[in-house]
This record gives sequence, structure tokens and C-alpha cells, in this order.
Amino acid sequence: MVSSPFLPLPPGLEIATTEAVDDLLKVQVISIRTSSRCPLCFQPATRIHSRYSRVVADVPCGGLQVQLVLHVRKFFCDIPKCSRKIFTERLPVFVQPWARMTTRFSEMLQALVLATCGELGVRLAGRLGMHTSPTTLLRQVMALPTSPPGPVSSLGIDDFSFRRGRKFGTILVDLDRHQVIDLLADRKTETAAAWMHTHDEIEIVSRDRGEDYAAAARKGAPQAIQIADRFHLTKNLVEAIEPVIARCYKEIRKAQVPLPPPALPKAKEWRPAIDANAEGKRLARLAHNQERYAQVIDLQLRGVKQEEIAKLLGISKRTLQRWIEQGACPGGVRRRKRRSIFDPYAPYVLARWRQGCRDVSLLWQEIRDQGFSGKIRTVYRFIRTLRQGPVELPAPSVLDRVSVQEALWLIVRPLAALKADERADLQELCQASQELETLHMLVQSFGQIVRKREGHRLEAWIKQVTNSGLADVQRFAKGLERDKAAVLAGLTLVYSNGQVEGQVNKLKLLKRTMYGRAAFPLLRQRALHAL
Ligand SMILES: [Zn+2]
Repeated sequence: MVSSPFLPLPPGLEIATTEAVDDLLKVQVISIRTSSRCPLCFQPATRIHSRYSRVVADVPCGGLQVQLVLHVRKFFCDIPKCSRKIFTERLPVFVQPWARMTTRFSEMLQALVLATCGELGVRLAGRLGMHTSPTTLLRQVMALPTSPPGPVSSLGIDDFSFRRGRKFGTILVDLDRHQVIDLLADRKTETAAAWMHTHDEIEIVSRDRGEDYAAAARKGAPQAIQIADRFHLTKNLVEAIEPVIARCYKEIRKAQVPLPPPALPKAKEWRPAIDANAEGKRLARLAHNQERYAQVIDLQLRGVKQEEIAKLLGISKRTLQRWIEQGACPGGVRRRKRRSIFDPYAPYVLARWRQGCRDVSLLWQEIRDQGFSGKIRTVYRFIRTLRQGPVELPAPSVLDRVSVQEALWLIVRPLAALKADERADLQELCQASQELETLHMLVQSFGQIVRKREGHRLEAWIKQVTNSGLADVQRFAKGLERDKAAVLAGLTLVYSNGQVEGQVNKLKLLKRTMYGRAAFPLLRQRALHAL
């Protein structure tokens, strides 16, 4: 056999023999070229010095792992001026001089590790007939050359967390080509500045509103226009208003009229009805046990051991001992009625119900926090009797229907995007609190300025905020004023870090399938070579 369509080899190499042992295909390969070029002077050499063999792994064939035994040679370089006298035969492209696997196999592993990484990559490789170790896979992907990024004129910069929010790195995105161009191992000003310094073609730096990247851009790319990215403008406003809403909620609740002391429905109204047949069952059980108890006494009198009695009557030894200790037959006593573990929580649940809370699972959670260990079913039963009750109950309050987080989004989203019931909720909130109404007005007009890029209205908006008396929003507006040039640029130019956030999300996906051990360098390789 000189060549095989199942295992193509480059010209000059031929298959001598093949031998399959278990799932390994061992292929003896001989070199038939008459000459090889000297790696130093590049002249062809023909005089053979010696023969030797080397073993390299190759791509699987028909599910079998493949091992090539390459029978190659050493040549004399006979060019008098060349300092290399003897050299080993080169098989360029097919296998690198000192490699232990063929180039095509190495490329296959690289593709595999870029797509999977981690233990999954090793398991998958095994299934595909490519036996490898995590270390080899890692080495493969780390060996991928990263070409330096080409010129970048619009740079998006942001941080991302690796290691569960404890360690942060920096992601750099070419905003024109929508491509990650680099990851940096930290989010320090100096690191980012040093990177930008090597790119004096940068015209625009789109960044968050933190001081670190602003300083980095001033230092590393003083020629560039800085943009306070619109995505972060909105994000920062949302962060600023959340405490305002939480505070308004507290104030509205405080102002609510205190409720009259609760009149509890009687326990028998909501507890599960007692089985009508219970008494009959009890008597039957009693009769059965009396009979067995008589047998126990009888057997004991005959001197039968307790263990044997238990076996004979099919009861456990412990039960038997209890019967004997009590000296009476079980089941004769009526069970004492237990108090419900729900009783201490009934007044609280009733009070919450009267405030308008209709969410049974929320109520259940609330009393669980207070120590209730029962099931949600008990709360359902209690609520059911409340529903059937003749008492006129107040309509549920908007504060119980809409959480602070939900209120936040009612206030932030454009009014036109709200559904009818959401609008009604919003209206109710604004009626309950003057501050929420002011907040809504301010947030909506800021949203318009950002969406419609109306930088010229920013000054007037900041003035409105100053007069609003809302301290948290005032702090946000002061921050805008400090960073005004970049904010205005962000409201004028079309660039946005939205796509950078998209890339950060992709990184999160990559991170989930990573080796713990090579965190940052591997993440960088995978991000830059993403398929
Ligand atoms: Zn030479």
C-alpha cells in the first residue's frame, strides 16, 4: 500500500504497513523523496547520513486513534560554505520539526478547544478518537498566535468580571468592525492607557462614566474624543433612582391609615374538616389492636420471647415493648386535638390580607421568615375562608401589587411602551406620592434626551433636577456636569457601547465553559479566536 484515500499523506510520504490494535491504528510511513532542503542554506541535499523514526499522533481514521511511525532520514549538507553539516529531513506543513502530532491534528484540537474548552473538550475528543489530556488541549489553544490588532479608530472600552465578580478585566472593542480586539487582565488606568498609547490612530473612545477609563483615555489617547456612552448614562440614572423609589414606598406605607385590630375567623372555619368516618375507623383499629394485645399477653404467659412474639404478630419490637410498658392496648385513647402551628401567624396574615395583599405564596414566605414551618396549603385554606367571608375588604394597594423593582421599570420605560394596566399602576403610584410623580417626569425627559440625542436640552434638564429636591438625582446630575464634554459627545455621536455589553455577555458564556486553572490567558485566547 503506497497511499490511501482514508488517510491522505503529502507527496513524498507513503504508507508501508498498517496495524490495528484495539482502537489504535498504527501506520508505518516511509519517506521516498530523494532529496531534502537544508534548513540553513535551503539547498537540496541528497546524500543520506542515517535513518531514524519518530512517532506522531494524527487525525482519527474511521473512529480509530491514529499513530504515525515516520521513517525519515538525516542528510549531509554538501554545500561547502554552509555551516550545517548534517540535518534531519523536514516535512514542512505536515509536521513541525519537534512536534509530537501532525499539524492537521493540532488544528483540529485547537478548533475543538475553542468551541468547548474544559473537561467537556477532553471527553468529546475521546469520543471522536482523539485521545488527549486537558493539559495538551490548553497548550494547543495557548499556542495560537494572536496577530496584533489593526488600526482602530473607534474604541469601546468597558470592564468585565472573571472569577465571579471578584476580579475584573478590561474588554476593548472595535466599534466600527464590531469585534473584540483585546482583553486586559485588570481594569487599571495605567494598563488601559498603555494599550491606547500604542494606537495613536484612535479618534473616539466610548467608555462608562467611571473615572478610571476617562483618565486612561486622557493619558493614552489624548487626541481622541471621549464619549460617555449612552448605555451607561441610562444605567447610572436607573441606579440613582432606585433608592428614591424605595424611600417613597416607605413613606407611602407610613402614611396609610392603620388597620383596625383583626377579627380572626374561627379556626374550625379554615382547618380541614374532620373526617366524618374518623370515629368509626378509630373503633375498628381499637378492636383489631385489642385482639393482638390479647395475643401478646397470651404468648408472654406461655414464655415466648419478645422477639418471637414480634415476628409472629408482624409488629416491630419497639411497638411490642411500648404495648407491654403501657400495660394497655393502644388505640383506646382518643387523640387530643392539636393546636395548629399556623395559629400564631393568623393575625399577621389577616392584617396583610386587609392591606390588600392577595399573593398567597408571598404571605407564606413572609410568615416563614417569622418562623412558620407549615405548608403553603394551610395558608391557602385560611385565605379561602377569608374570601368567602362577608367582610368588605379594601381593594389591594398598588404597593402590594407592584414591587420597588417593578415600579422602577414603570418609571424608566417610555410611557408609550407601557400597557394599559401598567399605566394605571404608574398613575396610582404618582397619585400616592408627589416625589414619584416628579421623579417620573424627570426620568422620562432624560430618556427622551438620550433616545433623541437632544444634547441641547441637557442644561435645562439639570436645572429642573436642581429644583426638584431629589438628592439622589441631583447627585447624578452633578456627575453629568463634571463629565459634560463626554456626555454631550455621547448624545451627539452615533457610537454606543451597547455592542460592548453584547461582547461582555459573550464572554460570560465563554467563562462558563472554562478551565479554572488558566483563567485570564485562556479567556483572552478564546475571545480573540472566537469561532
Ligand atoms: Zn546547508
